[in-house]
Amino acid sequence: CGIVGYIGHRDAYPIIVKGLQRLEYRGYDSAGIALYDGTSINLSKTKGKVEDLKNKAKNTISLAGHLGVGHTRWATHGVPNDVNSHPHYSNSGDLVIIHNGIIENYESIKKELTKRGYIFKSDTDTEVLVNLIEEVKKTEAVKLGQAVQIALNQVVGAYAIAVFDKQKPDEIVVAKLGSPLAIGIGENEFFIASDASPFIEFTNNAVYLEDQEMAIVRLGKEIKLRKIKDDAIA
Ligand code: GLU
Repeated sequence: CGIVGYIGHRDAYPIIVKGLQRLEYRGYDSAGIALYDGTSINLSKTKGKVEDLKNKAKNTISLAGHLGVGHTRWATHGVPNDVNSHPHYSNSGDLVIIHNGIIENYESIKKELTKRGYIFKSDTDTEVLVNLIEEVKKTEAVKLGQAVQIALNQVVGAYAIAVFDKQKPDEIVVAKLGSPLAIGIGENEFFIASDASPFIEFTNNAVYLEDQEMAIVRLGKEIKLRKIKDDAIA
């Protein structure tokens, strides 16, 4: 399984797809991509190989955009199929998540969110997490970074995640516990990946998140790693 993300001035699609192929050695059963084209999010995902994803995406969605995330899945919750593949949307359609790992207490969170009116399309633990983030963001009226931090403090499990918000397309929020996550830092552009192989030709300036760390990857800002547990996020 693997994750790749890009935000900057280049076309995100080729970087993400090539990156996912470089992470194929990690093993996976499905692949998917979400691209923000300046107005909307275009998402394509499929059971199978990254090659299958490329064929599906080029026939079904616009491949334009300078912000995007891609994922190869190794199913833990929900069978390998198109719907359970990542990325996953939140109910509003604004938030997009990719996730490697397991949210162990997803069932109780899902129950609570269902009571509050949330609807789930997939059987994954991941779709529960993105909706928890959305619910926190709404009810506590906080920014995405803070919402991710608060949500992760309610979660038991392992993760490398990348989340972005269509309403604020200048940033990707990332966090790590258990699964690996690296950020490549370029000239007003950032790369996110499970290891450095997806961005090696673009930059050799990389930071690797430690367990329990998160970062707000925002254009025009320096990367500052924060502890998920206690660092206040402004
Ligand atoms: N637990 C998530 C799922 O089953 C992520 C699996 C992965 O690490 O790829 O969808």
